[in-house]
This record gives sequence, C-alpha cells and structure tokens, in this order.
Amino acid sequence: ALTDRLEEAWKKLRGQNIITHANIQETLKEVRRALLEADVNLQVVKDFIADIEKSAIGVKVIQGVNPGQQFIKVVYEELVKVMGESNSPLAKAESDPTVILMVGLQGTGKTTATAKLAHYLKKQKQSCLMVAADIYRPAAIDQLKTLGQQIEVPVFELGNQENPVNIALQGVNKAKEIEADVVIIDTAGRLQIDQGMMLELTQIKESINPHDTLLVVDAMTGQEAANLAQTFHEKIKITGTILTKMDGDTRGGAALSVRKVSGQPIKFVGVGEKIEALQPFYPDRMASRILNMGDILTLVEKAQEEIDFSDMEQLQSKILDAKFDFNDFLKQTRLMKSMGSFSNILKMVPGLNKINTKDIEKGENELKRTEAMIGSMTLEERKDPDLLAKSPSRRYRIAKGSGYSETEISKLIKNFTRMRTMMQQLGNGGMPGMGGGMPG
Ligand code: GDP
Ligand code: MG
Repeated sequence: ALTDRLEEAWKKLRGQNIITHANIQETLKEVRRALLEADVNLQVVKDFIADIEKSAIGVKVIQGVNPGQQFIKVVYEELVKVMGESNSPLAKAESDPTVILMVGLQGTGKTTATAKLAHYLKKQKQSCLMVAADIYRPAAIDQLKTLGQQIEVPVFELGNQENPVNIALQGVNKAKEIEADVVIIDTAGRLQIDQGMMLELTQIKESINPHDTLLVVDAMTGQEAANLAQTFHEKIKITGTILTKMDGDTRGGAALSVRKVSGQPIKFVGVGEKIEALQPFYPDRMASRILNMGDILTLVEKAQEEIDFSDMEQLQSKILDAKFDFNDFLKQTRLMKSMGSFSNILKMVPGLNKINTKDIEKGENELKRTEAMIGSMTLEERKDPDLLAKSPSRRYRIAKGSGYSETEISKLIKNFTRMRTMMQQLGNGGMPGMGGGMPG
C-alpha cells in the first residue's frame, strides 16, 4: 500500500531535523505520484514539485515527525497557497448590472452553472437575468428557460436565428432596463476547442465587456484541463473558473492545473445536478482532496499541538513561580517569541481569546522594548529588581544603554514589581485585582 511504502521510505530518514534535498527524495516521488493520480497535468506537476522542493529545503522538522512527513505538510500548505489562500468572490460592477459571461466546452455544465449561480445570487437578495446565447444546441434555450422557471429567474432569448453577439448585447441592455443586479450569459460550447467558438466568444466579450468571464471546467477532464485553461485564457482572457462535477470520484487535480496555468482563481465548484449543488471554492478542502494524505497531515498537526502545549506548561509553571526575576522574564519573553507570536499564547488564555490584532501587535512591540531594556541591565540587577527600584543612577545608566527614557525604565520596573506581586497571589490561589490578598 501507499502508506506502507511511505513508512518504509521514512524509516531510513528518521532522526533528521531539517528538510534536505536527500531526505525527501522518496517522499517527493510519493507526492508526485499522488498528484498524477489526482489527474494534475504532468507539466504542472513537474513545475510544482521543482518549486516546492526549493522552498522546502531548510525547513525545520518538528519533534515527533520525520522530514518526509514535515515535507507533506509543506506541500499541503503550498497547494492551498497556489490555489488561492481564501475563496474569491464574484466580480461586482460599480454600477449595476454586473455582467458575467460563461464559457467552456460542450457538456461541461455551463447552462446548469448559469442557473446555479443565479439561484445562489438570488438567495443573497440579488436580482438576476439569464441570457440564452447558445443557438446551436437544439434544446439549449428551452433548457435554460425550464431552469429559469424552476428558480423563478427571468430568461432573455431571441430564438435561435439571431446572432449570439447580438443576443448577448441585447440581453445586457434588457438587464439594465429591468434593473437587474446581475446578468449571466450562457454561451454555446463545442466538443473541442475550435476557431469558430473562440471567435464568437471574443466578439461577445468585446461587445459586452463582462466583469467576470468564467471558464466552466468539468473536473473529470483530467490532464487536458491545463491545455483547455491555457487556450481559453490566451484567446479570451478568463477571470475565473467554475469546476463542475466534483461530486464524482475525481480527486480534483484539474483545479490545480487550471489555477497554475491561467493564474485565475477557481470561484465555485459544482457538486451535483441539483440547482443548489454549487459551493464557493475552498482551497484547503481541495488541497486535501488532491493530496489525499490526510493521515500524515493530521499526524504533523498533532505533533505541532503537542509542542505548543509542552512549551505552554513550562511557561505557566514559571509564571506561577513566586520567585522569578528579570532573567526568567527575559527567558519567557524569548520563549513566547520562539512560539511564533504572542497571539498564540493569548488565544490559550481563557477570556483573552477575543483580543484584537492591534492589541496583540502592541503587546509584541512592548515585548521588544522590554527585551532591549533588560538587555542593558547587569546580571546582578536582573536577579534583584529591587536594586533598580532603589537606585536612580542605575536606572539612568540603563536608560542611556537601551535608548529609552528614565521614565520608561521606571515604568518597566514598577510594572514588573506589580506583576510579580500579582503572580504570587495567583500562585497562592488568590485572585489578583479583586480587593482580597492584603499584604500581611
Ligand atoms: P453545457 O453544455 O456546458 O451547458 O452543460 P449542461 O449544463 O447542459 O450540463 C451537462 C450535463 O452535466 C447535464 O446532464 C448536467 O446535469 C450535468 N452536470 C452539470 N453540472 C454538474 C455537477 O456539478 N455534477 C454532476 N454530477 N452533473 C453535473
Ligand atoms: Mg449549455
């Protein structure tokens, strides 16, 4: 099995603390295989692997996992990043209507996606008009009209004798007339990319100037998805894609191909034939599906959590220790920093997890200042903060050395002393700041 092969490969690599070229070669092959099995385009896989190897080398391997496992985590994160860190919304015109042009090969799900989108927008209280510009497929206009009735969204059509460019243009005008928020134009596809189709789409695009041009791609397309996206993007400049039929058993490699090749975001995924079966695109979910190594990712995440937790315990016992001085304080400051950011710690303190990022940044700057001031203290002073409380000349020297004012130094010492008292009370089970705990 795949996992057995991975296990075997990894055993050889255990005990290494950073990712190197040598210690991920086996895993690299597995990742490559996983991507190809997910039907990511071969060239895209090659480029992706080359990039990712470069950026992964030197990455620290956390406790409890091996370099290969850590590498999988890097790959996953990179996949999420490449596919567009968060989901991209539809374009929004400055003045209504927003014009959306649907393009793609025949049978990919353009007409269905047109109605799904209209339904989706309607639920967000946006009024829509759908335009039937596919005059070639015999039942195309009826198909859209039926869907329109079902979701109670009007459909503009001029039969199948009119020129599609003209239909699209008049459809947009109609949308203005009825003051629709969004107008979606459903166009004709072909079984393969062909000149006629591209020419027609180019003309439509030039005449209506859409805010969004969405390429509808069947997720089952596999390897060909990259060529498709490339050609469409070259010829008519798409601004996003909708990946349909993700309810099938495909692992969705087309998502990565299309994104990499066109550079345009995937905006929605179709997950069924029903009108509700449309979801915004979530890169993290798609990355998991493409990579299909959820077990390893879970393992790395668990290991990460454990490390954070043991650091936290250490920190806590130090904070609760009644006799800590500036040295401990400095160590704690550094420990906090090494854990990433102050916000990680704050998040774990009950009641403080709703602090906003501005406050966190302020806290982090505060830590830097504090560190600089402590840096200018002698070892003796660090061990005995009371020395500083008593001596203005010591405070003066530290102020000069650290570049902060004497007032700031005094403030640090005062705060520190107060904090220490508070922690002593905490350590003794008292409640600081609650009026109790009179010093006696
Ligand atoms: P068009 O030629 O691009 O307009 O494609 P259609 O919208 O007519 O869809 C072609 C077929 O694909 C129809 O049978 C749809 O019901 C089906 N279809 C479209 N989207 C999805 C989807 O997300 N999942 C599934 N399972 N079928 C879909
Ligand atoms: Mg159609």
